[in-house]
Amino acid sequence: MIAENVHRILDSIPPHVTVLAAAKTRSVEEVREAYQAGITHFGHNYVQEASAVIPVVNADLHWHMIGHLQRNKAKIALTLFDRIDSLDSIRLADEIEKHAATLDKTIRVMIEVNIGEENAKTGIDPEHAKLLAAHISALPHLRLMGLMTMGPRFGDPEDSRIYFKKTRQIYDAIGTLNLPGVELKVLSMGMSNDYMVAIQEGATLIRLGTAIFGERKT
Ligand SMILES: *Cc1c(COP(=O)(O)O)cnc(C)c1O
Repeated sequence: MIAENVHRILDSIPPHVTVLAAAKTRSVEEVREAYQAGITHFGHNYVQEASAVIPVVNADLHWHMIGHLQRNKAKIALTLFDRIDSLDSIRLADEIEKHAATLDKTIRVMIEVNIGEENAKTGIDPEHAKLLAAHISALPHLRLMGLMTMGPRFGDPEDSRIYFKKTRQIYDAIGTLNLPGVELKVLSMGMSNDYMVAIQEGATLIRLGTAIFGERKT
């Protein structure tokens, strides 16, 4: 079932769009099934849950932290994940920089924007996103790759369009700043219910849980 879902999704989206499988609550076997079907980008929301899956899967995959990251988990997150897609504050950026410097490692990051305000509980306020981008640009061990956002989770996918449009505008505005060391190329938006709308509004990375693995049991 997972393989069929992956093939159907990959056949229905443009080739420049990458699918990230949101693996929260999923087993090692489910992750394996998804990557055998062709998925190479995976996301996890919780450091602790991820630490029981990522080392066990032990395959050459790209793991993205997509959940809210607490500063006291930044160090362990750096050992588990290739990317932190949910960076949402200057203090967290500084904490990640500190540990990345100690590990002598450059980490790719994305800014999570709280575009829906009441719909999304995490992410930086839209008006502070540029400031955070400039701050990250000055940190030697962080490489800013793009933005991530969440639309409303349920309901009419068209309701997400305005949020995706606004995120795209912020993405373009940060791009025009020409910040040193920043290579904006990833716009992560769209989940199982609204990824087609997200792609129309410029998403290059979509994050799918239910559409790949089926309904979550928890
Ligand atoms: C769970 C999750 C998703 C995927 O949600 P679905 O509706 O199951 O596709 C995407 N992004 C984040 C940040 C998530 O936590």
